[in-house]
Amino acid sequence: MSLHVLKHPLAAHVMTHLRDHTTRPATFRTLAYQIGLLLAIEATRDLLTKEKTVKTPLESHTGQVLARPLVVVPILRAGLGMMQPFLDIFPDVSVGYVGLERDHETAVARSYYCKLPSLIGTRVLVLDPMLATGGSAAHALTIVKEAGAKEVSFVCIVSSPQGVETVQAEHPGVPIYTGACDRDLDSSKYILPGLGDFGDRLYGTGAQAD
Ligand code: URA
Repeated sequence: MSLHVLKHPLAAHVMTHLRDHTTRPATFRTLAYQIGLLLAIEATRDLLTKEKTVKTPLESHTGQVLARPLVVVPILRAGLGMMQPFLDIFPDVSVGYVGLERDHETAVARSYYCKLPSLIGTRVLVLDPMLATGGSAAHALTIVKEAGAKEVSFVCIVSSPQGVETVQAEHPGVPIYTGACDRDLDSSKYILPGLGDFGDRLYGTGAQAD
């Protein structure tokens, strides 16, 4: 299915500062919010709307309002860093959580937590900033589909060619929205050039840059 890469000068600007290893966690969180906002707009361009008639101060007007409930499902923990922009701009969004951890030796994803609202009849956006091997993304997409989601998209900040290929092979009907599609993975399955460990940089849990 489709791969959508953000093309906007602001997205390019924000991505460069996110990648910079000297960017401190407070700034990193702001930048993650900004790129999340651009992705939220891009990933919801095709949301269904329905007619609604309102009265302006001057006359009656028939416009459009959102027609379908939206559910965001951040993959814990790094996906939390992408959630706030969706909450801020969509009035009736619900949130589900999928907790996945990656075995550092094998890079295979394992689920340790899952709490989802009803997904029937909703549009679901699964959020995870780094689409590396694609293992976690494919696993989370399977979980939401098994819970009844029919219309699902995957939203990430950086993707690798391998991750995109895995998701497209295992979930061909799921569009991917990404801030950038990078070159490769290293031997530890980190994205190159990437931005390092997103969760560590977001929460200040990794080695600090001087
Ligand atoms: N997770 C990260 O945080 N960064 C990567 O490069 C890959 C997976």
